[in-house]
Amino acid sequence: MLLPFLRRLTNAAQSPAGKPVEPARFAIPHGSGCIDVSLRRSPTARRLTLRVSSATGEVVLTVPPRVKLAAARDFAERQTGWIAARLAALPQRIPFTVGAVLPLRGEPFVVVCEGPTRAATRIDRDRPGGPAIIVGGSPAGVAGRVKRFLQAEAMRDYQQAVARHAGTLGLAPGRITLRDPKGRWGSCSSAGGLSFSWRLILAPPVALDYLAAHEVAHLREMNHSNRFWRLVHELAPETDAAEAWLKRHGAGLHRYG
Ligand SMILES: [Zn+2]
Repeated sequence: MLLPFLRRLTNAAQSPAGKPVEPARFAIPHGSGCIDVSLRRSPTARRLTLRVSSATGEVVLTVPPRVKLAAARDFAERQTGWIAARLAALPQRIPFTVGAVLPLRGEPFVVVCEGPTRAATRIDRDRPGGPAIIVGGSPAGVAGRVKRFLQAEAMRDYQQAVARHAGTLGLAPGRITLRDPKGRWGSCSSAGGLSFSWRLILAPPVALDYLAAHEVAHLREMNHSNRFWRLVHELAPETDAAEAWLKRHGAGLHRYG
């Protein structure tokens, strides 16, 4: 009967205050390189679980409280083949470089670098090579400029959509913040602030419009009740199509940039 108590004492003795802090990640060897594994201690986890994020390619190992780091690392090393296969199956990343083709409002645009640095990034739909995003300055600065351009376009579309939907409901539009969250596309704070993923500027316009409607509807219904969903469908008649698109293609938006 005393055993659990004794074991607790023993554990406590093994973790003195000066113990080094556990690393947030570690590397496991694979081929000629290695794979980074992020460590998540979970107070509620019952067993070790590995997950490869399809959005970011991050490898996450969830570890129950009592499992030691060495055992967790052993577990991950035994799963190296599985991890590598999952990573290999992920869609390739598409950085914002010259020549990259990326979707803008669901339509493909090629990134072109020409003209002076001070020229504003712009769109040319009628180029012989197809619709293009034209960035001035040196190719080295292209990635940052393309991202800022996409974020500015996203902000403009969100502002218009939010103003329209809020107007329909007779509400004042909330303050809009753009973020790049991995697990959700938008959120609404109790103070009425609206937060959105800038990446939906890459998706067909119904997706961004639906998301704006969704968060604006939360200004009236801070829940996901039937009343809330009726409101969303009223504001954005293509809600079902937008949700289906996001479910099917949403994760793929994270491979850009
Ligand atoms: Zn919601």
